[in-house]
Parts: sequence; structure tokens; C-alpha cells
Amino acid sequence: MASTAPERSSERSERPAPRDGGRGPKRQHRKVCSFCMEKVSYIDYKEVSRLRRFVSDRGKILPRRVTGTCARHQRPLTVALERARAIALLPYTTELH
Ligand SMILES: [Zn+2]
Repeated sequence: MASTAPERSSERSERPAPRDGGRGPKRQHRKVCSFCMEKVSYIDYKEVSRLRRFVSDRGKILPRRVTGTCARHQRPLTVALERARAIALLPYTTELH
């Protein structure tokens, strides 16, 4: 008899458990752009109390992944922040010691 290796298909296919049902506790809460929520179309640079939430303690503009601001609002927000800085409503950077 020729030596024909018997093919053993002992390959276990371990599938990662498929999602059963729609009961997943891992429901990521997605931050919603606060400007979209309030339906703001124009971001007023004079609203410092609002703008302050979008700058860090050091006065840096926070990236939108931090604040949850959408791309549409991030641009005018940046402009507003820069204007606020220009007239010293917001600091460019806070001094660090
Ligand atoms: Zn938005």
C-alpha cells in the first residue's frame, strides 16, 4: 500500500461567539456636539462662559474628540476661540510655573 497520509481534519474551528440577541451592555455613549444639541449656527466669541469649556486649563483649544464637537462646529468654534483670545477674553496660554 502506498503511504498516503490520512488526512485528519482535526482542525477545530473555534468561532468567537456570535452576537446573540441585541442585549449588549457595551453601548458606547457617543458624545453629541453641544452646538448641534442647541442648534447653534453661529458661535459667539463673546460667550466666554460657553467657550471656556472648549479650552484646556492652560488655555489651549481642546480637540474635538475631547469635547465631542462635530466637524461642522469645530471650525467656527476655533474661530470664535481665536477671536476671544484676540480681545483677551480668553488666554492664549496660562503661565506654568
Ligand atoms: Zn455640531
